Amino acid sequence: MLRRAGSSPAMPPGAHVGPKQESSYREAAGLIKGACRTTAFTGAGISVESGIPPFRGPDGLWSRYDPQVLDIGFFHSYPGRAWMAIREIFYSSFLAAKPNAAHYALAAMEAAGRLHGVITQNIDNLHYQAGSRMIWEFHGNSRTLICLGCSKAYPVAGVDLGELPPTCRLCGGILKPDFVFFGEPIPEPAGTKAFLAAQMSDVLLLIGTTGEVMPAAMIPQAAKERGACIIEINTQESQYTRQITDVFLKAKATVAMVRLLELLGIQLPV
Ligand SMILES: [Zn+2]
Repeated sequence: MLRRAGSSPAMPPGAHVGPKQESSYREAAGLIKGACRTTAFTGAGISVESGIPPFRGPDGLWSRYDPQVLDIGFFHSYPGRAWMAIREIFYSSFLAAKPNAAHYALAAMEAAGRLHGVITQNIDNLHYQAGSRMIWEFHGNSRTLICLGCSKAYPVAGVDLGELPPTCRLCGGILKPDFVFFGEPIPEPAGTKAFLAAQMSDVLLLIGTTGEVMPAAMIPQAAKERGACIIEINTQESQYTRQITDVFLKAKATVAMVRLLELLGIQLPV
């Protein structure tokens, strides 16, 4: 397999794709054009340019919050304390965040028949907001709250988060965000369908994910084992780059996706 890992300098914000990387972009576009099924696999890196901080890294959420606020055992024991942090983390900046060009580019690729879906580890709803249709939310989502008592689902927009923890109007049970906490299993059927989608793909377009979170980190490997080509878009090399990546586009998600879309002849919605 061809490899284009790590040979180009990092691009400054707003920069265009340099000549050294141009051949990699053309190779990536050619793979997508020749594929029957291309699926995207996204992580925190695609939403950073929308103002959503990643969990990990020096500026990540875990440098400011104790990860135990998302531990399911802690949530059951101290729902009020957990919710104080959850409201601050997920129901302030998240609600104001808007999709960026990379999210819109994926939606445009799907509309043009060049993408068969997005597997995302993100819970920020930005793929939905951008107009993607086929989305497998591997870690659940923050749009919905679920009653721990009777399993009734509530759109978060209709729930008063002024008093914590929020409770169910039917049974008085505590409401929990419908995303995966530490200690919880991957939601089904999204988990199984995500792996199937990856395994059925000829091309997996990996964007903004470094392969640190299990079992999501196994999705690209599962695609690779079934013969998929891996196109990786990251600002830095990841655990995938030297292991399974075929074409490495070292760039911000927006820069890379805008250029890819140009090469695919797909218009990015204004
Ligand atoms: Zn209930």
